[in-house]
Amino acid sequence: MSDCIFCKIAEKKIPSKIVHEDDKVVAFDDVNPQAPTHVLVIPRKHVASIADLNEADASLLGHLMLTGNKIARQKGIAEGGYRLVVNTGKNGGQTVFHLHLHVLGGRPMHWPPG
Ligand code: 5GP
Ligand code: ZN
Repeated sequence: MSDCIFCKIAEKKIPSKIVHEDDKVVAFDDVNPQAPTHVLVIPRKHVASIADLNEADASLLGHLMLTGNKIARQKGIAEGGYRLVVNTGKNGGQTVFHLHLHVLGGRPMHWPPG
């Protein structure tokens, strides 16, 4: 989508620190990290939120989550533990409406989240 910031990051039209990419997803450092490791994993195709996915997207969603695991191993946080988060919609705290998986780690996470 032409006015979507994450589409532009995936297309490398605006800069980001890309840590992993393949034909389906792109992963890059969050510009405002909330933990020592804070990476966002996005599908290349524009999807506003996880609420817009259905059964036909199951393999894409699985790949997104498994890429989160891969990033955690790559960043050295897999052993200590980490958190995968998908904020969804206004009450979910979503601010960028291109589906993204947060990969957070490198410090203990708290529960419940704010
Ligand atoms: P949300 O609140 O939608 O779950 O998360 C959006 C995330 O995108 C936030 O953590 C925010 O810091 C990050 N973000 C917003 N704009 C940019 C950007 O231009 N570049 C990068 N790398 N991250 C961004
Ligand atoms: Zn987009």
